[in-house]
Amino acid sequence: MSKSREIVRIVVVGAGASGIAAATRLLEKGFKNVQILEAENRLGGRIHTIPFADNVVDLGAQWCHGEKGNAVYELVKDIYLLERTGDLFGTVRCVRSNKEEVPQELAITLRGIAASSIPDGPSPYAGSVGEYMSQKYWQQINIQLPSVDRTLAEEMLESCKRSESSLEGSDNLLEVSGRGHLEFAESDGDQLLNWRDLGFERFLRLLRSASDQPDDLGVLKGRVHYQKRVTEINSNCPCNLEVRCSDGETLNADHVICTVSLGVLQEQHTTLFVPALPAAKVNAIKSLKLGTVNKFYLEFAAQPLPSDCAGFYCLWMEQDLEVLRSSELFWLESISGCHRVSYQPRLLQAWIAGEHARHMETLTEEKVLNGLSWLFRKFLNFDVPQPKRFVRTQWHSNPNFRGSYSFRTTKADELSTGPWDLETPVMNENGQPILLFAGEASSKTHYSTVHGAVEAGWREADRLSDFYQDISTK
Ligand SMILES: Cc1cc2nc3c(=O)[nH]c(=O)nc-3n(C[C@H](O)[C@H](O)[C@H](O)COP(=O)(O)OP(=O)(O)OC[C@H]3O[C@@H](n4cnc5c(N)ncnc54)[C@H](O)[C@@H]3O)c2cc1C
Repeated sequence: MSKSREIVRIVVVGAGASGIAAATRLLEKGFKNVQILEAENRLGGRIHTIPFADNVVDLGAQWCHGEKGNAVYELVKDIYLLERTGDLFGTVRCVRSNKEEVPQELAITLRGIAASSIPDGPSPYAGSVGEYMSQKYWQQINIQLPSVDRTLAEEMLESCKRSESSLEGSDNLLEVSGRGHLEFAESDGDQLLNWRDLGFERFLRLLRSASDQPDDLGVLKGRVHYQKRVTEINSNCPCNLEVRCSDGETLNADHVICTVSLGVLQEQHTTLFVPALPAAKVNAIKSLKLGTVNKFYLEFAAQPLPSDCAGFYCLWMEQDLEVLRSSELFWLESISGCHRVSYQPRLLQAWIAGEHARHMETLTEEKVLNGLSWLFRKFLNFDVPQPKRFVRTQWHSNPNFRGSYSFRTTKADELSTGPWDLETPVMNENGQPILLFAGEASSKTHYSTVHGAVEAGWREADRLSDFYQDISTK
């Protein structure tokens, strides 16, 4: 394989943030024959900005999490595309299921104790985030608020766990690795930088050097092939890899960079890769997890929340929760709350995570909307009118994603595996990297984010660039 950058054939599977980052970096490094195969009929993957209400909404990634050391922020910081949202969730009210609002000062103290009960700092921790959180929370309550109403404190802990589960993307925090959580490198700075009225899609334009014209592919022009679902990547032949698509076409390549989600790998790795992937990689694929997190956006004629209210968290009282759990609306338990959206004055946004998010995806839009209206009536002491327009996401049902974002599990800890095994390229018998893996789940320190996906794409493009550098030096 002593080909030059001019003619070596590289196929990137997936046109999400990671695939776009990999392809644009390869072109920058002088590789000429780079093609992207994408199963959907659009670019962006889990970045999906759509027109809605007064401008746009993001169905997938919405915020740039942090500034320092964040590849997304670094790319756009000089052109002021991003704006700080500040502590949106810190100002959201806490409401119990009997419509009683927890006094703001007490709510802030309790949520502060819960937030500081999430593993943090340099000391290693071997258990789950859930175990750690419960233990530390009650310890701190006993020290800081010994006379607080224990029932309320319990409701608050459960509500905070629900919010944290949405952030992690987990079904519950007992499956989230404390070690993985500690190894995630949070970028300093505002955690909710918003894209004003442009959406996250604006970032992908910048990445591929495209104009504001809707269909401009920029430097990727002529290289992205839509509705090309890859069904097999065959590396049995010593001279090239064969990439088969569901429409019958086969492409030959010298290298493939696979960026499909962890959920797609879990579902398809046994048929997608011939020969089978090495055991260590299969281990990682099976034990890491792609969680399900879905969003709801509701557009009203005018904002239904009072002007001094950014949103509300749902605190379920035990007796109400029992009734809910035995009804067909049981899935509403996993909605953490509801809040306003930057640059969209007439919208409300809500989130749902885990098993109940997957159930919600199976319901009709009408049932989902009726459920949300019921939730508003249950928690709020004012009327929320019927929305003018409504959209919900279904990331798990889509076979090209099968979920929302990945997290490290306690099971992965037990098997001593993690993103590093997902990242390791498959070599041919001459020790050359032929099948490479990117995508957010392969990032050791920034998994689950767009910046993690971008860094992973760059990482694999650089791996190939270094490989060809070595060849030319030799
Ligand atoms: C609801 C939600 C909210 C989020 N919020 C944030 C946030 O606020 N901030 C943040 O940083 N991140 C957020 N994320 C995570 C972020 O969106 C992802 O980490 C990132 O976009 C993943 O990019 P990727 O390129 O690794 O994968 P993907 O975007 O999944 O790209 C993979 C591509 O491969 C394609 N594909 C799959 N199978 C095949 C096949 N067989 N053949 C060809 N193509 C295939 C898919 O269609 C897809 O386009 C959120 C995600 C979701 C779902």
